Amino acid sequence: MATSDQGLAGTTILVVGAGIMGAGIAQVAAQAGHAVKLFDLRDGAAAAAKAQLAVNLQALAAKGKVDAEQVERTLSLIEAVGTLGAAADAGLVIEAIVERLDAKRALFRELESIVASSCVLATNTSSISVTAIANGLSHPRRVVGMHFFNPVPLMKLVEVISGLHTDAAVAAAIFDLCKTWGKVAVHAKSTPGFIVNRVARPYYAEALALLQEQATTPAVLDACLRAAGFRMGPCELMDLIGHDTNFAVTQSVFEANFFDRRYTPSLLQRELVEAGWLGRKTGRGFYLYPSTAQTAQERPIDAATPSAEVTVHGQCTIAAQLADAAQAWAASRGVRIARQAQGGWTGLSVGSARLVLTDGRRAGEISAALSLPDVAVFDRPPRPTLPNASPLAYAVAEGASAAWQAQAPAWLAALGFAPQRVADTPALLVARTLAMLINEACDAVQQGVCTTQGVDAAMKLGVNYPAGPFEWLAAWGAADVLRILDALDAGYRGERYRVSPRLRHGGDIRPDPGLHS
Ligand code: NAD
Repeated sequence: MATSDQGLAGTTILVVGAGIMGAGIAQVAAQAGHAVKLFDLRDGAAAAAKAQLAVNLQALAAKGKVDAEQVERTLSLIEAVGTLGAAADAGLVIEAIVERLDAKRALFRELESIVASSCVLATNTSSISVTAIANGLSHPRRVVGMHFFNPVPLMKLVEVISGLHTDAAVAAAIFDLCKTWGKVAVHAKSTPGFIVNRVARPYYAEALALLQEQATTPAVLDACLRAAGFRMGPCELMDLIGHDTNFAVTQSVFEANFFDRRYTPSLLQRELVEAGWLGRKTGRGFYLYPSTAQTAQERPIDAATPSAEVTVHGQCTIAAQLADAAQAWAASRGVRIARQAQGGWTGLSVGSARLVLTDGRRAGEISAALSLPDVAVFDRPPRPTLPNASPLAYAVAEGASAAWQAQAPAWLAALGFAPQRVADTPALLVARTLAMLINEACDAVQQGVCTTQGVDAAMKLGVNYPAGPFEWLAAWGAADVLRILDALDAGYRGERYRVSPRLRHGGDIRPDPGLHS
């Protein structure tokens, strides 16, 4: 059995399945100096994958982007083989075949009669239980998940998945091997979706829920989430991934969690799938391709009119940033802005009207609680600075005066935002999405799937999040996140917004002792 001490350095690797993932895995293994044997069930597929790799790498070399000698060395290390028996000397097998439990089990069973008992058997499955794949083998302790991300040569993350049988030394050896390949490895327990495909669910689910209840539009959602630092908004990202693929992953996580309503798939997305509007690949998803501009509509905004005393409230970082922005706006206009740190809320008051940083409650609820008609709420702005004119969602209480309906966005614009009006929905867009991502990450850690550092690394490297959920939590504070989730739970009633015990009862941001880093 491989151990961390023995390591897998320099071992011959058999990659089974020469599709998108197998070809990429063969490339990075060969680039790291391993002799790689590539096998595919389809005649000629492995040789074709190697030929395609040669074309791609040589094109990069011709452009001077990679070293030509290194390309030749990489290609010379990859051998397309016609039988599994040709790889009897492999110290590691990585399978990237069809995503079916029976096929993966059958492959590993066949391999056990070919490779040495010390050979590690790794699966690149994205959704099947590693425990189930190992079950029934003579040496199940050597089975481990090695979950790469597409495109393999570019994506740094590898989730190293341990099933119930997996020997800790095998997982440690794979972890170390990934590091020598220039990857960032993260340990995870075999559970539905592992880390990334589980923790990312709310990014899609909250957008779909907001659209289903007609709270906003795809363009506004995308603009606001991009402003919060995400490389792509949820709707354009789902269009890119393909609604069929995205829906299938959600469905598999839902079913694998015994239909926990937290993961309920979206009717709206099912409609898109049933319509064949799968996104970019079919020319239509939320948007039309290639032509639709994906920008939020700009509405004409009145000038902010300080008709009464204007005060910035709150003592958090966001309050300080709002105060700075308000002072800068006021300075050139000869307007005086007051400051009130106490009072338990963050935002702006103009006379008796209030513009309140969301605490999860709807503007209408705050208005009723204060017996004030002129209330608006705004979404959590990006941090640490407030970029000029960055899109930010807001909602106005139903009973607000026409004057405040016009002045609330005017004040947001004065503070440097491009205000986007949405329906008066709990926790708006960014706050609810971030809170739900944090909540899911807390549950994953609570359940021993991974460490806090593991989640943060996985989400930043696997799906390019601007920060990890525990980094957001540390910056935001558990009490505020809880308030958002409790308001969502109260607003919708049901399992979806159930708060993670780890978040509710502490242990929220401490590093975990004992688990792998
Ligand atoms: P793919 O369809 O591009 O390639 C699969 C290849 O495996 C095909 O060439 C097929 O001929 C071959 N194959 C099927 N059954 C085989 C068998 N029994 N023995 C040998 N070869 C066999 O698929 P892919 O996208 O490369 O995915 C492969 C695996 O990686 C799946 O388990 C998938 O869930 C996982 N994965 C995919 C992605 C992704 O983004 N595509 C990301 C992470 C993990």
